[in-house]
Amino acid sequence: MTMTIALPQNAEATNTGAPKTKSPRRPQISTALPGPKGRIIIEADAQFVTPSYPRPSFKLVAERAQGVWVEDVDGNIFLDCNAGVAVCSTGHCHPEVVRAIQEQAEQLIHMCGTDYYYRHMPQLAQKLDEIVPVQRPTRTHFANSGTEAIETALKLAMHATGREKFIAFFNSFHGRTLGSLSLTSSKAAQRVGFKRQVLDVIHLPYPNEYRNPFSAEDCGDGGAAQGALNWIENRLFKTTTPPEEVAAIVVEPVQGEGGYVPAPKGFLNGLRRICDEHGIMLILDEVQSGMGRTGKMFASDHYGVKADIVCIAKGIASGLPLGVCVARADLMDWKPGAHASTFGGNPVCIASALKTIELLERDLVANSADVGAYLKAGLEKLMAKYDSIGDVRGMGMMIGVEFVQDRVTKKANPDLRDRVEIACFERGLILLGAGFNTIRWSPPLILTRENADVALEIFDAAINASV
Ligand code: PLP
Repeated sequence: MTMTIALPQNAEATNTGAPKTKSPRRPQISTALPGPKGRIIIEADAQFVTPSYPRPSFKLVAERAQGVWVEDVDGNIFLDCNAGVAVCSTGHCHPEVVRAIQEQAEQLIHMCGTDYYYRHMPQLAQKLDEIVPVQRPTRTHFANSGTEAIETALKLAMHATGREKFIAFFNSFHGRTLGSLSLTSSKAAQRVGFKRQVLDVIHLPYPNEYRNPFSAEDCGDGGAAQGALNWIENRLFKTTTPPEEVAAIVVEPVQGEGGYVPAPKGFLNGLRRICDEHGIMLILDEVQSGMGRTGKMFASDHYGVKADIVCIAKGIASGLPLGVCVARADLMDWKPGAHASTFGGNPVCIASALKTIELLERDLVANSADVGAYLKAGLEKLMAKYDSIGDVRGMGMMIGVEFVQDRVTKKANPDLRDRVEIACFERGLILLGAGFNTIRWSPPLILTRENADVALEIFDAAINASV
């Protein structure tokens, strides 16, 4: 029998009234974490909500947020350097985004774009046509999440090529629905219980430059990038995976959940060449790395590579659910009924996305590059101080800090990573792990240098207390 738990009501009723999150300069922690109200919510969650969410060992119970500041249900204030897992690109509740959502909600919330028309869909599709790393002209399919954008891309690649094999990379994350799960390979927990892959996907190591998984023979003089390309051409194509049977290669330009690992130079361009030579679609998963996160609108822009199909979600609508799959127009010539979604691209989400892109183009992509470089330089200084930091890598505000036992053996130190994550939280800094032993920095793109200084100071103290 389940017991009903009396949950705290909204913050006005139970808390201090006026939002405290206006613009503090530092986190303010005044209760044990989680606090008394937070504990009630966690208890109710444990009873009624699926236990399948991969929550970290620290427990944040958010009540409201503004900019880079998040207030929990007990009135503690945190500096957020995770942005709801790289989603709140314009910061929490950006006033212009909130206004755009409110105005749209008063006009039209839903109409079902699969059956009716409204201006928002072509408006955003046209904007995406201007900015995405895909050869123009493009067309866009609207869905609700990253995994749905990936499902769209997989179906489209099969439809366009008449082939059904896919190539993907170990440590990748592309979502948890059954099609995208066939690609996803960052943790066994994502796969356990779900039997064989639904799709015919073959994985190979991602060319991680810090931990080059390829032999000297594979790499020649081209490093990890060449190792991966040779693996595809010399092994896969000649054994299990004839190129004429491959529908697509699916790749993250920066591996996200796998540990914030940027593609090495030459790798994506090499994939482009291979795809062109064999009529294979190149699907770039920019779900986490897109929308200004890396200091350019898309991570692929750093490499000058264009995809046949690109998937975008997370940061595109500042927190409202939207996933888009943008493809070369000549590929997206499937017939009515082939793929559609009731909610995908609803007017409110699109209004939020259009405002988000406007803000990104106005100054936030530039801020991501500028303050991101400042933050990275600060993290590199910490690397000089702590031997347990093996690598600091990334671009813009997508930065990974990898913890090791020492720099010589590079042996992973996931326990230290976890301790640092918790120690940061206890000091009011929200950071989240990625991969086995890395902490990801994915703050809202509005982060200032002053915020970065505070975050770095806390990170330093947290490492110092954890080593
Ligand atoms: N692709 C990448 C690169 C991701 O990082 C994620 C989510 O973390 C997804 C796809 C799946 O997105 P969603 O959780 O919105 O389904």
